[in-house]
Amino acid sequence: MTLLRLSEVAAGYDGARAVSDIDLQVDAGQIVALVGESGSGKTTIGRIVAGFLSPSEGAVSWRGERLLGVRSRALRRDIQVVFQDPYLSLNPYRTVGSVLGELLRATGVPRSDVRAHIGDLLARVSLSGDVAASRPSELSGGQLQRVAIARALATRPSLIIADEPTSALDVSVQAAILELFAGLRSELGTSLLVITHDLGVVERLSDRVVVLQSGSIVEEGRTPDVLDHANHPYTRRLLDAVPRLPESSTDANAS
Ligand code: ADP
Ligand code: MG
Repeated sequence: MTLLRLSEVAAGYDGARAVSDIDLQVDAGQIVALVGESGSGKTTIGRIVAGFLSPSEGAVSWRGERLLGVRSRALRRDIQVVFQDPYLSLNPYRTVGSVLGELLRATGVPRSDVRAHIGDLLARVSLSGDVAASRPSELSGGQLQRVAIARALATRPSLIIADEPTSALDVSVQAAILELFAGLRSELGTSLLVITHDLGVVERLSDRVVVLQSGSIVEEGRTPDVLDHANHPYTRRLLDAVPRLPESSTDANAS
């Protein structure tokens, strides 16, 4: 089933186009990577999908229905965003438990069940229940990004947009966060649109990859096909700029 479809979408800022003629699809349970160098329009597309920016041309559809105007609360719960920097995306003054609890209550979880649900959410992102009593300053970057993911999961979304979700984190915790997203897909069926300039992320995580250059899609396809047989010179330049996993592990991923 197709969750999200962008058809011939263009958008920009102050009359200047940042992206144009964007055709993009995310199916239920799929992980799609959006890749391209800085300024190529990745975040702009993420903002369109999240509903933060309206396209000037083209159509955005969700579950087969064109989205126009203000989004319903149900839809805002169904599409969640995880940002690059968890320090900026979490309120420094509030405990993790109070943030998660408020969201859970807003989605209809009875007050008496909230504490258990908070524990479930934290466990889902491999954090201990003690974290509920913590404020952001007491947590590491990796723990904070897990909290941000738990917050996104509180509304049981069908799609999470993750904009460079590991690039503000220590290299040592990046892989664990990627594993977490992979687990969410396999255990909850959550689809992911992951925005990255890191082809390692693409290779480890995504089913399909969309390559952007200067606001346009220059290549799109199944991840192993694109990584192994990149047609566009720009994609090949991106590939050459990044150390690849050894051939053997690439073969294992493809089978
Ligand atoms: P990426 O995420 O791939 O680095 P962006 O989507 O952030 O790229 O940016 C795409 C283009 O839009 C760039 O040329 C950028 O300068 C421009 N842009 C992004 N955000 C704004 C903004 N708030 N105001 C004006 N121009 C912007
Ligand atoms: Mg960006």
